[in-house]
Amino acid sequence: MISKLFNCSVVDVVSGKIKTNTTIIVNDGKISYVGEESGAPRAPYDLEYDCTSSFLMPGFFDLHTHISYDGTLKSHSIEVAATEDPGYRAIKAYNEAKKHLDTGFTTIRDCGSLMFEDISVRNAVNANVIPGPNIYATGKPLSITGGHGDRRTNAMSSVPSIGLISNGADEMRYNTRYLIRQGVDWIKIFGSGGVSSEGDKPDQTQYTIDELRASVSEAHAAGRKVAVHAHGKEAIANAVQAGVDTIEHGTMIAENPDLLMNMKEGNIGLIPNLCTPNFIVKRGSEVMTESAIAKATVVIDLRVQTVKLAKEAGIKIALGTDSGLAVRHDESAYEFLYLKKAGLSDLEAIQAGTISAAQILGKEAETGSLEIGKVADMVLVSKNPFEGVECLTDHKNIKGVFRRGVLQNSCLDREGSFVKFQ
Ligand SMILES: [Zn+2]
Repeated sequence: MISKLFNCSVVDVVSGKIKTNTTIIVNDGKISYVGEESGAPRAPYDLEYDCTSSFLMPGFFDLHTHISYDGTLKSHSIEVAATEDPGYRAIKAYNEAKKHLDTGFTTIRDCGSLMFEDISVRNAVNANVIPGPNIYATGKPLSITGGHGDRRTNAMSSVPSIGLISNGADEMRYNTRYLIRQGVDWIKIFGSGGVSSEGDKPDQTQYTIDELRASVSEAHAAGRKVAVHAHGKEAIANAVQAGVDTIEHGTMIAENPDLLMNMKEGNIGLIPNLCTPNFIVKRGSEVMTESAIAKATVVIDLRVQTVKLAKEAGIKIALGTDSGLAVRHDESAYEFLYLKKAGLSDLEAIQAGTISAAQILGKEAETGSLEIGKVADMVLVSKNPFEGVECLTDHKNIKGVFRRGVLQNSCLDREGSFVKFQ
C-alpha cells in the first residue's frame, strides 16, 4: 500500500526545525520519500492525507510502562494477583497498551508484568490480531527474595509476584536464560528497593555486582539489553560496573556525581520517570499506600536534580513513566512536561520521547524520526510542539496516529480528529 501525506509541517526531531509544505510518501509501512511535493514520485496512491495546519511528528516512545496494571492501587495489589488468571490479565493489559497507541505512543518498553502479559500482547500486536503499539517486553523483572519485586507476606507467600525471584549469580544466570526462552526483548532487574513496595527503602541495594554481571553477560550474549531499577548510589554503581544498558529512576545519583561520568563512558541511558512520584503525591491513597506516598514526596526533588546533572554530563535521557502505577496509560505525555520542568528544552524533551529513546533501544536506524527508510510510525498534532510540549498532554491536539503507515481507527472518532479521504 502506498500513501501520501501532503502539506505537512514535519517536525524534525534531530535538527529541531519544522519543514513546512512537505510531502511524505509511505510505501508498505516505511517512509520512502520526504521532500517537496514537486519531487514526489507520481505513483497512483492508495490513500492521500491533507495535513494542512498540522504538525507531523515521529511516534512517541514510553520506555517504562507496566501494562499489567491500570493505574489504580487495586490493580497492583497482592489480593488481585491472587485471584486473576493470566488470560484475563492479558486481555486487560491489551486494553491498557492500546491507550498508549491512541495518545501517540507508538512504541513502549514494558518494564515488568505479573504473568508475562506484555509478551502475550506484543505477540498479538505483531501478528496483527489486535492493533497496539510496538512493545519491547521484559516479562518479569529479576528480584531478590523480599525485594522490590516480592511484596508477599507469610500469609500470601503462594501468590505470584511481579519479580522473578533470583538470588546469587547462578540463579541470575539461570533465570536470565529462562526469560530469554520465554521471549523477552530486554531483561529488567530490580537493583534496589523502591517507592511503591512496602518494607524496603529506595536506597537499599538489592543486588551485588557479581549477581548483576551474571545476568548481563547472559543477556548480552543472547543479544538482549538490560534495564536496572536503581535509586540509591550503591545500587546505581553496581549496575554501572556490571555493564547494564539503562538505569531506571537514578534518584540519588547526585550523591556520587562520578557515576554520571561512568554512565557516559559505558553509554548507559537514563530513564528518570519524573511524573510517577508527582502523580502519587497528587492522587494519594487512590493509587498508593501511605508509606509509598511518603517515599514519593522525598524523591520528587532528587529526580529533578538527577535530570539536571545528567543533562550537563551529556547522558542520553529517555522518556519513561512507570504508567500503570500512578500514571494512567493515556497520560504518558505528561513526562514531556515534567522533563521540561526539570530543565530540558522543548526540543530535548521531544528527543527524549523519540530519537533518544530509539537510540537507547539500539533501533535508531529504523525508527525515532521521520526519515527515508524508517518505519512510518507518526503522530499528527494540531500545535507546534517546539513552542511548548504541554500541547501533547491534551488529547484534542492529537489528530491522528499512524502505526506502520496505517491511520489508527480510534483517532477517527475523536472530536476535531483528522479525517482521511481517498
Ligand atoms: Zn517500573
